[in-house]
Amino acid sequence: MSLVFTPPAPTTVPVVGGGEFPVRRIYCVGRNYVEHAQEMGFTGREPPFFFMKPTDAVVAVPDGETGRIDYPTVTKNFHYEIELVVAIGTGGSNIPAAEAAQHIWGYAVGLDMTRRDIQGDMKKQGRPWCIGKGFDQSAPVGPITPFAQTGELLTGAITLDVNGVRQQTGDLNQLIWSVNEIIEQLSQAWTLQAGDLIMTGTPAGVGPVVSGDVMVGRVAGLGALQVAVR
Ligand code: MN
Repeated sequence: MSLVFTPPAPTTVPVVGGGEFPVRRIYCVGRNYVEHAQEMGFTGREPPFFFMKPTDAVVAVPDGETGRIDYPTVTKNFHYEIELVVAIGTGGSNIPAAEAAQHIWGYAVGLDMTRRDIQGDMKKQGRPWCIGKGFDQSAPVGPITPFAQTGELLTGAITLDVNGVRQQTGDLNQLIWSVNEIIEQLSQAWTLQAGDLIMTGTPAGVGPVVSGDVMVGRVAGLGALQVAVR
C-alpha cells in the first residue's frame, strides 16, 4: 500500500503504571445525572442518548501535569463538564449489562468541554450538536487506571474545581444510567471495540471558563486531571 501522505500519529492516553492506551472512538452520554438534567431543563428518566467526539479531540494529560487547551473559536460560553471516562478493552455487540464490566479496561477522569451557546442554538433548531461538542481539544482526559487496580467503580465522589473553587460535586452512584447499562445500550447501536472511550455524563454545576482559568477534576480512586485554558 502506498499512502499519499503520512497519516497523523494515533491518539493515545497514558496508563497509570506505564504504557499508552490507543483511542479508537469517543462516545458520550447526555444528561446522565438527575440534577444536571434538571439544570438543563429536563426531568424524569429518559432513555440514554449518545453523541460522539472525534478521536483527535483528546488532549491527554499525564499524571501530575497540567494540560493546556485553547479557548475555542466561535463560542462566547465555553463550559466544563467533569465526567468519568470508561475505557473499553474488549469489544462486542449486544453486551448484557450483567457482563459489561468484563469489557472495561480501565477508567479515567475526563472533561466534556462544550460550546454551550452553540449547542443551545443547535438544539433549538433541531440540528446536530457536533459543532457544540465535537470541536478540537474538546476532550481532555487524564491517565487511565487499569480495572485490575480499581475494580468496578460504582460509587465515589466526582468533583470539579475552577481556580480552587468547587463548582461541580456528585457521586458515581447518582448516574441515571449505570456504566453497565450504558455499555449494554451503546453496544446495541454500535459494535464496541478495544480502544473506545465512553464519557458517562456530568453532575450538576456546569458553568463557563475563560482564558487563564485552571480546572481540576477528580474521581475517587483515580488520578486528578488538571487543565488550563489559554
Ligand atoms: Mn457531557
